[in-house]
Amino acid sequence: MQLSKLPLSTFKEVPAEAEVISHQLMLRSGMIRRLAAGLFTWMPLGLRVLRKIEQVVREEMDLIGALEVSMPAIQPAELWRETGRWDQYGSLLLRMNDRHDREFCFGPTHEEVMTDIARRELQSYRQLPVTWYQIQTKFRDEIRPRFGVMRAREFVMKDAYSFHLDQASLDKTYNDMADAYTRIFTRLGLTFRSVEADSGEIGGSASREFHVLAESGEDAIAYCDGDDFAVNLELAPAPQPATPRAVPSQPMAVAETPGAKSIDQVCESLDVPPEQCLKTLLVEGAGEELVALVLRGDHELNSLKAERLPAVATPLELASAERIQAALGMPAGFIGPVGLGISVHVDHAAGASADFVCGANQADQHLTGVNWGRDLPEPETVDLRNVVPGDSSPGGGGAITIARGIEVGHIFQLGEKYSRAMGATVLNQEGKEQTLLMGCYGIGVSRIVAAAIEQNHDDDGIVWPEPVSPFQVILVALNTGKSDQVGTTADALYRDLEGMNIEVLYDNRVARAGVKFADADLLGIPHRLTIGERGLGKGVVEYRYRRTGESREIALDSILDFITDTLAQPAA
Ligand code: ATP
Ligand code: MG
Repeated sequence: MQLSKLPLSTFKEVPAEAEVISHQLMLRSGMIRRLAAGLFTWMPLGLRVLRKIEQVVREEMDLIGALEVSMPAIQPAELWRETGRWDQYGSLLLRMNDRHDREFCFGPTHEEVMTDIARRELQSYRQLPVTWYQIQTKFRDEIRPRFGVMRAREFVMKDAYSFHLDQASLDKTYNDMADAYTRIFTRLGLTFRSVEADSGEIGGSASREFHVLAESGEDAIAYCDGDDFAVNLELAPAPQPATPRAVPSQPMAVAETPGAKSIDQVCESLDVPPEQCLKTLLVEGAGEELVALVLRGDHELNSLKAERLPAVATPLELASAERIQAALGMPAGFIGPVGLGISVHVDHAAGASADFVCGANQADQHLTGVNWGRDLPEPETVDLRNVVPGDSSPGGGGAITIARGIEVGHIFQLGEKYSRAMGATVLNQEGKEQTLLMGCYGIGVSRIVAAAIEQNHDDDGIVWPEPVSPFQVILVALNTGKSDQVGTTADALYRDLEGMNIEVLYDNRVARAGVKFADADLLGIPHRLTIGERGLGKGVVEYRYRRTGESREIALDSILDFITDTLAQPAA
């Protein structure tokens, strides 16, 4: 492609609307343009990246025997009513009416449509197992569309659905999918982790997420390099305290802590470290009463774990200061477990604290030197907290690492959830009707573009992993106006490279060298060839590798061999 024919407008300024680097760089390099909140146009260079990712996904799906289909984006409400999701899905679902006032939605996912296909197409166990997939545009009316195509409202997803007679068959396809996902993200040149995940609203049993590791990731994942432990942070079990609780050494005493409502303020006021303080969080209970959750000051509440307690209301709801005052007659910010009078659930680590500080249930006061079993009953402890770096892995391989991740794929075993609701059955070997088992498998194709940039960029711009780069080579011709020879040599090289099926972006614009080099860096194409008057005088072309910035001169007459060899090498 010739840049002179592509109306590419790049810019240097960081766009105000873009918080994360991938969004900034995609806008600055002209890969995408915003139409409205969460809606983007894929411009020619961006679309090439998207198509490459689609192609890798498609190849790997085909390889495991999944069958490509294309379902309508618009779906009738009746199907969603059959599964109850018309009411459950809430405002994420974009609803609309046609001219006959029939209700529809723009598909955020396709379980219903697929299960409808399955119940019509599948009659016999002989047709099983079967996996269908599509690569298609979804719409979710996200409450906070942000980070560009990372969390858009309209986005491209690969969604696959499999149907089975028995669990063993579902397990096999589920494992084949996990392997295919591993090959996909490896082929795309991404650093990723596959983690055990919460099955969440979709329901069902087994579920794994695939995360591209990046600082800006919205999810936290916990893993251990010494074993194969890797889970979404919210699911990571915290280890039991390794050492027994210290014996009490202080008397319990009241300390004045005027205005100190947060752990930080209490620590400052009393000059103690946060791990010496216990915080008492009040949440709505399953009944009328509030429930207290006690954690160490340096630990965070894990809401999934809290919701697992039968005494706690789901979804978890923290009590407001007004609610606390009304229910207990005590001021929020100074609550503690001593004499609280409601049900108290204590985290394992908090239960192992001695001589601790906690709220006194009186305004502007805390208690110091508090001890379980002496000043208040010995607690029965539970796991309530998020794990922290350094906690030991349940796999026994050493300390846990916590990293941020971008969810790019998610696979689920759905069981009978949809097939039962929609009556998707086949005749089994005994000639009896049997409800199908189902799995579903998503990949955020458009999100991967942003995730790849989050993981691969520097101060000058994008540094594409080679498999997803919009072009393999960028050919820059310098000052073509001044020298005919530069123009003719570069034109010829461009034709030769294209003739060899090398994807080359040819910068033959009339522009200054500085502009061309800055754009080449911003666009992030792995291999750059520069032809200029000075080099040609010596019979050489400059080659530069984007990722390392290393450059060298290559004799013009061996440039094609050089490029062929370079492209054949695995990426550095
Ligand atoms: P998230 O937790 O990020 O909202 P999700 O768990 O709701 O995603 P799934 O239903 O698992 O999403 O969809 C499959 C994949 O589609 C996700 O793993 C993600 O990569 C992608 N995806 C989901 N929502 C969006 C979005 N708003 N923009 C871009 N990609 C998305
Ligand atoms: Mg998900």
